[in-house]
Amino acid sequence: MTEPLIAVTDLTRRYAVGEATVDALRGATLTIDRGEFVAITGASGSGKSTLMNILGCLDRPTSGGYRLSGVEIAALDGDTRAEIRNRRIGFVFQNFNLLSRTTAIENVELPLFYGPTPLAEQRTRAADALARVGLTHRARHVPSQLSGGEQQRVALARALVNEPELLLADEPTGNLDSRTSADIVAMLRDLNRTSGLTIVLVTHDPEIAAAADRVISFRDGSIVADSAAPARARGSAP
Ligand code: ADP
Ligand code: MG
Repeated sequence: MTEPLIAVTDLTRRYAVGEATVDALRGATLTIDRGEFVAITGASGSGKSTLMNILGCLDRPTSGGYRLSGVEIAALDGDTRAEIRNRRIGFVFQNFNLLSRTTAIENVELPLFYGPTPLAEQRTRAADALARVGLTHRARHVPSQLSGGEQQRVALARALVNEPELLLADEPTGNLDSRTSADIVAMLRDLNRTSGLTIVLVTHDPEIAAAADRVISFRDGSIVADSAAPARARGSAP
């Protein structure tokens, strides 16, 4: 059997909040294979973003393991984790996180800036990524001249420009109306089907989650359901 793309074992994350502590993750265990399209759902505060930040190498667990393509991430130093994050992982957030005075194409080029891509090629690749999300005609616009859906597509192009093997989307439709949300999710669905990109999509909306092939539900920092292995996730025999 080949190594899963993501293998998370007994992951915990405890935050210190003044004198108190918050257990955002309480022993999550899961694997995700290459090419999967997985939705993560759960109420606000259930630990979804905490998990995504760890998967995206933005944060480290308090305990437990995270192997990405067989490499134990928690053991790596900050620079190596940053390199993995930049080269192999694309991120899309609820609030788009675009630079406001910067055109769409320049926003998409940003992740290439620190990599080995020659300058001339950076522009071509950014243009290709914008074309993939259908925004060639908006390349010279700044974010305030774009609709929410267009801004999220720019963010998606930026996430794709490095050709990551993993796309993490944390409530990417949280600021969008339902029709625009459906467009964005259809775009993710299509990316997964056509290029085999592995996608982990966080949403609290069951309709959005239904677009994925597999749904994992969190409650209070624990996995309470996994449509790929319902009996195992409930911790009981079928
Ligand atoms: P979700 O994304 O499912 O809404 P989060 O992972 O953001 O949940 O948060 C899980 C829990 O951890 C919540 O109780 C939240 O308040 C807490 N939390 C998240 N980030 C921090 C932080 N940086 N410092 C302290 N507590 C945090
Ligand atoms: Mg969140």
